[in-house]
Amino acid sequence: MSENIIVTQCRICRKPFQSLGGKICNVCLDRIEKDLTLIRDYLDSDQKSRTIEDVERRTGVSKEIIIHLLKEGRISIDDPSGGTLCCGLCGKAISTGRFCEACKNKFVEKIDNLTPPLAEVKKKPEVRRQEARRSKMHIAAKMRDDGK
Ligand SMILES: [Zn+2]
Ligand SMILES: [Zn+2]
Repeated sequence: MSENIIVTQCRICRKPFQSLGGKICNVCLDRIEKDLTLIRDYLDSDQKSRTIEDVERRTGVSKEIIIHLLKEGRISIDDPSGGTLCCGLCGKAISTGRFCEACKNKFVEKIDNLTPPLAEVKKKPEVRRQEARRSKMHIAAKMRDDGK
């Protein structure tokens, strides 16, 4: 009954726990939900720009959890000190998520270009037909040359 359970290290508290595939233990998951409420209340009450350190100090939430929530895109802090979160592609400082807006847009374009399954399916027989026509023409030209 427990083949799928592996012991892994919690990303937040670094303690080993039995995981079904997640990277965070249940204790931390519960804490994260509570901390998220605290952080949101704080961010809502005070519209000034603030750093991760401010949030940590004012809410008592550990930096690991704040960064985790930032990476998940569940909170957004315009940290003027930057450098805490970087775009995974170009390394630019970002306030939330894993990639900057420019790279996210590039990503979307790339995905559009890479996965047009319908266009591919439509294109392929056409290409094949063109190639078939070309080789037929080639044979015809060859026959004409041979007939000379
Ligand atoms: Zn944990
Ligand atoms: Zn980027």
